[in-house]
Amino acid sequence: MMKLDQISVRQIKGVSAPKEQELHAFGVQTVADLIDYFPFRYEDYRIRELTDVKEGEKVTVLGHVRGAPVLQRYGRTKSRLTCKVEVGQWLVTAVWFNRQFLQDQLVTGREIMLTGKWEQQRLQITVSDSEFPGSGGAAKTGTLQPVYSVGGSITQAWMRKTIRQAMTQYGVMIEEMLPYELVQRHELMGRRDAVQRIHLPDDTKEGQAARRRLVYEELFLFQLKLQAYRALNRKRNDGIAHRIESETIRQFAATLPFELTDAQKKVINEILTDMRRSSCMNRLLQGDVGSGKTVVAAITLYAAVKAGHQGALMVPTEILADQHMRSLQRLFADMGIEVALLTGSLTERKRRDVLAGLQMGMIDIAVGTHALIQEDVFFRSLGLVVVDEQHRFGVNQRSVLRRKGMNPDVLTMTATPIPRTMAITAFGDMDVSTIKERPIGRKPIKTYWVKHSMMERVLGFIRKEVSKGRQTYIICPLIEESEKLDVQNAIDLYVQTQQSFPDLRVGLLHGRLTASEKDSVMSAFGVNETQVLVATTVVEVGVDVPNATLMIIMDAERFGLSQLHQLRGRVGRGEHQSHCILVADPKSETGRERMKVMTDTDDGFEVSRRDLEIRGPGDFFGTKQSGLPEFRLADMVADYEVLEQAREDAADLTARDDFWTSEVFAKVRQVLQKDPFFQGEQLD
Ligand code: ADP
Ligand code: MG
Repeated sequence: MMKLDQISVRQIKGVSAPKEQELHAFGVQTVADLIDYFPFRYEDYRIRELTDVKEGEKVTVLGHVRGAPVLQRYGRTKSRLTCKVEVGQWLVTAVWFNRQFLQDQLVTGREIMLTGKWEQQRLQITVSDSEFPGSGGAAKTGTLQPVYSVGGSITQAWMRKTIRQAMTQYGVMIEEMLPYELVQRHELMGRRDAVQRIHLPDDTKEGQAARRRLVYEELFLFQLKLQAYRALNRKRNDGIAHRIESETIRQFAATLPFELTDAQKKVINEILTDMRRSSCMNRLLQGDVGSGKTVVAAITLYAAVKAGHQGALMVPTEILADQHMRSLQRLFADMGIEVALLTGSLTERKRRDVLAGLQMGMIDIAVGTHALIQEDVFFRSLGLVVVDEQHRFGVNQRSVLRRKGMNPDVLTMTATPIPRTMAITAFGDMDVSTIKERPIGRKPIKTYWVKHSMMERVLGFIRKEVSKGRQTYIICPLIEESEKLDVQNAIDLYVQTQQSFPDLRVGLLHGRLTASEKDSVMSAFGVNETQVLVATTVVEVGVDVPNATLMIIMDAERFGLSQLHQLRGRVGRGEHQSHCILVADPKSETGRERMKVMTDTDDGFEVSRRDLEIRGPGDFFGTKQSGLPEFRLADMVADYEVLEQAREDAADLTARDDFWTSEVFAKVRQVLQKDPFFQGEQLD
């Protein structure tokens, strides 16, 4: 027998070729797609008594026409139609706009359904929808009607009718695909019932049960994908089992200028344990700004090299690549470890040398931007990729590497701590390590919010810090629409700052500088040759100058919370007390709230929690960069408990051997197999 996902929507009565084409635009090709095209809300046509309805509320009532309708026309097309209708013990006035064709149908005594806004003072209903149930036209009366996302020539009414038709023709063929034991354990409605009811719920309770089932299904299948990917990875066992002696690591740690914190030691151990395994590491390291992730990366890269392989450190900007290059060279000085930079701004000749060095194994560690692991880059034996300050190292990049015959361990580091909800959604396929504490002796960064009118005093503060030998950043915002304007802003601010401090040296950093210009500006600031650095957000991530203790952010209301927190994280990286000053006159309520969060706390986990609260889950991350999926029915925050349950179930299931072989799970395995996530993977 044919399956629903093999039957074209054309087979449904009423779907013409042009309609079929339009449905494709909604991602609907087969009957299965259409049946799974769920409504995003319902319109309520359930009948209520007017005595229960509040002034101004939208309501549906049932009544009888009493008296003749009155029509008033305005101009050529506009009209107002009124008619008395008896509803319970009330005689109300029903008002329609531009529905003059109803005039003839409003016959005294006829039963009528009215949906609209109730105005108690005037005993009036402004009608948005009406129906005559007596004459077989009661499609909506008393029901909840699904509302679909529609467009083009596909109307709400057409969609409702067509989906109902699809259910009539094919509903019996809808199959359960969740494992029976889960359906039982969670008392889930069967798939066929649930789908039927999500499109046409009989009442709210049924609708909710249907929704609960389908939300669970959606979240479970999503988690199953992540967990299956993780389990496959474990089973595959074709990664590199790094041979790492603990003693080697201990000796290296002893050469560091500081003692590692307990949190750093803990995550290093977690990472090394993964690296020693023959399966591929896929681990996320979360740690607030300034928590000391770089040295963790350095130690793990060192471990890979000592085990006879190569390492790559991938970062989002060239400034960061330069900085990491320098700190690795410092850390690995005299150890016979060769580190090379590979970024877009190398000369052709230099680039060729580096590529050759990597391919022949003369270079041990490559530091660079994204292109590092792609294109024409080949390593002799790539053992570890560390991705810094990047949200996610996707499955796609992994398969790029795998296709090149490389199967390195991957460590992704992020300073954007995300709430647990998000973490298990976005990173369900990764193991997570977290650094909670900052290095000993770090003082919390004091944060102030001042108006532009206080700028004189801010300048006084800069002078005070500089006189103590410290340094200052001044950030001017980046307006994404116009890089040219930004650069002009930065230059203006730079000139002003120079005029305010004729005796100090001021640096300027923005996106239009060449890589080597940026490098020399950062080097000068790094060694305190310049005391004040005027910069755009190019310094947002990762930049590390511990002697800088003052961060001034101009027009701070233009930044989002996580960006503000990142920028603030450029100070507080040494033993000195650091300060952050937000210069802002926010006009919006949310702008003021952001300033308040910043002055309330300097804990990144708390900042992101409040950020989520202010913005809501939809906006929390630009969905693009976060890799967070968009769910059809599920809501990551409201359905959080279901999400956790689904994750637990998916993890349990994929850990069982019979999941991969038993007939019982064949259906759900098929669902996995169809997912692009698993392209080229062998599931059984
Ligand atoms: P992030 O986690 O933001 O990447 P970094 O790795 O840049 O932080 O570290 C911030 C600063 O703290 C650096 O100057 C680094 O040398 C220093 N640091 C890291 N670990 C320690 C430690 N255990 N004790 C003292 N300073 C440390
Ligand atoms: Mg960092």
